Amino acid sequence: KVLLEVKDLTAKIADSGSQILKGVNLVIYEGEIHAIMGKNGSGKSTFSKVLVGHPDYEVTGGTVVFKGENLLDMEPEERSLAGLFMSFQSPVEIPGVSNNDFLRMAYNARRKKLDLPELGPLEFYDYISRRLKIVNMDTNFLNRNVNEGFSGGEKKRNEILQLAVLGADLAILDEIDSGLDVDALQDVGEAVNELLTPQKSVLMVTHYQRLLDIIKPKFVHIMEDGKIVKTALMALRVNPQWHPD
Ligand code: ADP
Ligand code: MG
Ligand code: MG
Repeated sequence: KVLLEVKDLTAKIADSGSQILKGVNLVIYEGEIHAIMGKNGSGKSTFSKVLVGHPDYEVTGGTVVFKGENLLDMEPEERSLAGLFMSFQSPVEIPGVSNNDFLRMAYNARRKKLDLPELGPLEFYDYISRRLKIVNMDTNFLNRNVNEGFSGGEKKRNEILQLAVLGADLAILDEIDSGLDVDALQDVGEAVNELLTPQKSVLMVTHYQRLLDIIKPKFVHIMEDGKIVKTALMALRVNPQWHPD
């Protein structure tokens, strides 16, 4: 089943008006892992941010359908509730708000949307403890304020913790490998793999081959000057969990 279909997407920077995306085409099926590579400045982060509805950018043409719905009509929050997740290249700090409270709020918003009862603090603690184990992270992450004083590597891990808690049908991971040493990269990559199921899809943006050795994509796309100019099918490197419907 098609999860995301992007057709001729063009977008510009909201203030300056300069055109960054110049006609992106991409189709992602349920359960597929895709990677986008390309030189710095080619538009990879812009594409990711346009998909989640970042206010810095304005869509000027094309269509994006996510789970059969017009994604471009949805507010950023609705996109997230619909099952789209993005980890940012530079995660923001939220001083004064603990990770635990932040995640509980976000998770309960999703449950509400699914007509499930909200989890109280204790029930949530149970839930999040299990998720922390899955991604092999320390409980001390919970009591710290969101990204405040975190090292680069801790911020990346915290993004994956958010993904683990919120879940997503499509996780967009923008350079989760940047600034990580080899061991941390292995950890973060394995945490993502741990979260994958045959239905879940990933779109990862990276400069480096080394991430693709851990999270193995089915397709690698090359972006150049705001367009996908080349796509390679990594036939022998399909995620073992992937199977066609
Ligand atoms: P990549 O992620 O591939 O390195 P980006 O999407 O970050 O590329 O950037 C693409 C181009 O758009 C670059 O030239 C960058 O300077 C420019 N750009 C992106 N976002 C902004 C912004 N908010 N303000 C000004 N220029 C931007
Ligand atoms: Mg860049
Ligand atoms: Mg980028």
